[in-house]
Amino acid sequence: MRTIAIEEHYTTRAVIQANAEAVRGDVLRLRPRVQAMSDKLLDLGEDRIHEMDAGGVDLQVLSLNSPGLQLLDAATAVPLARETNDLLAEAVARHPDRLAGFAALPTADPDASARELERCVRDLGFKGAMVNGMPMHRFMDDEFFLPILEAAEGLDVPLYLHPAQPPPAIMDCYFSGMEPAVGASLATSAWGWHVETGLHALRLIVSGVFDRLPRLRVVIGHMGEAIPFMLARAGVPLTPDVTGLRKPLADYVRENLWVTTSGFFTFPPLLNALLVLGADRIIFSVDYPFASNDAGRSFLDSMQLSDADREKIAHGNAERLLKL
Ligand code: MN
Repeated sequence: MRTIAIEEHYTTRAVIQANAEAVRGDVLRLRPRVQAMSDKLLDLGEDRIHEMDAGGVDLQVLSLNSPGLQLLDAATAVPLARETNDLLAEAVARHPDRLAGFAALPTADPDASARELERCVRDLGFKGAMVNGMPMHRFMDDEFFLPILEAAEGLDVPLYLHPAQPPPAIMDCYFSGMEPAVGASLATSAWGWHVETGLHALRLIVSGVFDRLPRLRVVIGHMGEAIPFMLARAGVPLTPDVTGLRKPLADYVRENLWVTTSGFFTFPPLLNALLVLGADRIIFSVDYPFASNDAGRSFLDSMQLSDADREKIAHGNAERLLKL
């Protein structure tokens, strides 16, 4: 069974350096797990391919590790985006059957981001773009970012919304007053990342982005960032009377959103996503190197599904969405 994983990360030394300067003093900057993973993140060659072979992953669609370029000012991010995307394109060219790319965007300059996305899709063959967290502490429904959303829709490529560490005000209000290591975990992969990214996707919907750009497609990881669990509840107060949207909330979730399995390798959230969204909306992902290819593939193989649904999740949905 062909296996395509689409939330798989890499980084470069230049991006590590730029982000270290941008977030100097931040409590999360030295998260030991990220440092331990830096060798794997930096590798775009044989070791990565070897781990894919060992773990049963045929194709990785690569994205720049969080926070990507989202914390960098335009003067830094615009040239770095070009350099980083070119480096990824060279890696993909060396392993075209095994690697594909999502663009890193210099979101501090939305017009430059739109041009870079077009260059990445048209010239480099990339499959979409990833945005991490709240660029400049704003959500993507901010009118400021509209050129990026319009470019993604116009180029017919998805935008992947990925978590990043919360802004300082959120850290102070929600995740302080406890052991720093506990607060850092709660703020990120234990809780905060996921509800913030779920909120990010919901904000895109309720702001009317998908009424303006009905063909825009958005991907979120981690089995839907709690949206499948919350959807029935969220739709009760957020009726079209309240939102002013053309359709009920759930329609946008089922028509404009895709979710991936990144880092979520247990059955309860999978069943929830299957029951709420259906097998056409779920795409296999590992979240390499933060989760192991082997764990992801074992979970995929163990799903109690029809072969047809398993094939959709393993590769069919990704092939359709990303035109692979
Ligand atoms: Mn990830």
